[in-house]
Amino acid sequence: MAAVFGRTGYVCPHKETKVSCLISCFYRVRDRLRREGIRRFAVRRFVKSVSQPYVSFSFDDFPSTAVENGAPLLEKYGARGTFFVSMGLLDTESPVGRIATIDQLRSLVRDGHEIGCHTYDHQDARFADRAVFVRSLVENRSAFRTAFPSLDLRVFAYPLDGPNLSIKLITGQRFLCCRGGEQTFNGRVMDLNLLNAFFLDWRSRDDPSLVEWVIDQSVAANGWLIFACHDVAEEPSQYGCMPNVFESVVRYVTKVGARIRPIGEVCRELGVGEEQRRKTIQEF
Ligand SMILES: [Zn+2]
Repeated sequence: MAAVFGRTGYVCPHKETKVSCLISCFYRVRDRLRREGIRRFAVRRFVKSVSQPYVSFSFDDFPSTAVENGAPLLEKYGARGTFFVSMGLLDTESPVGRIATIDQLRSLVRDGHEIGCHTYDHQDARFADRAVFVRSLVENRSAFRTAFPSLDLRVFAYPLDGPNLSIKLITGQRFLCCRGGEQTFNGRVMDLNLLNAFFLDWRSRDDPSLVEWVIDQSVAANGWLIFACHDVAEEPSQYGCMPNVFESVVRYVTKVGARIRPIGEVCRELGVGEEQRRKTIQEF
């Protein structure tokens, strides 16, 4: 019989209790408690007072296919996205395909897309040493500013499996907002240090009704739904999706009347000011 583990709400999926089941459930419950703890501390609470549902589309690491296929699909619907760059990964091979080149990064900027920070070398926000992580943030900004002296990286996405508390604290103070995951939208009350996102990947790309459901829920709650993706390709990695899936999501969002904006622009329209960013990225 399925068991519920205390107040974590974790439901054991196993039909009979075995040692292996207990061990696997122990790790899942521990992970859930860890995530819950991080959600409760170092919070930068923001109450959305604008009664307009928003949707953002973001790409992490962004391989070439996100630039070649994802960006034009957004532009086709008059929208722009947020591309989280790790400058040290440009033009290298990765599990999501070859990462975009500096010229592709330039084309995104030229076409009006937003560029956000994802650390210089894709530091794991959960396990990274604080000093190493900070160096990676500074290095990413420096490399970006060398290429684009008039621009800055004002929004952030945690690489890999979300932040630990120390990383959440240092990044939260230095960016307009920081994005995580959790496969849900942001409601009226949100944490700017750890915004929710919904990944278009192996978990959702074959289930259009699930994606439409989360869009409908977000719109009904006047929420802010941030999609996240990696590659957009006919044969995507497990972290990406196909172009037709991506387009159907953009089309549905347009149909239900949510406003599509890059993440930093949503912040501005919601009144998240620069003053909420207590330190600049240089002040570590
Ligand atoms: Zn990443």
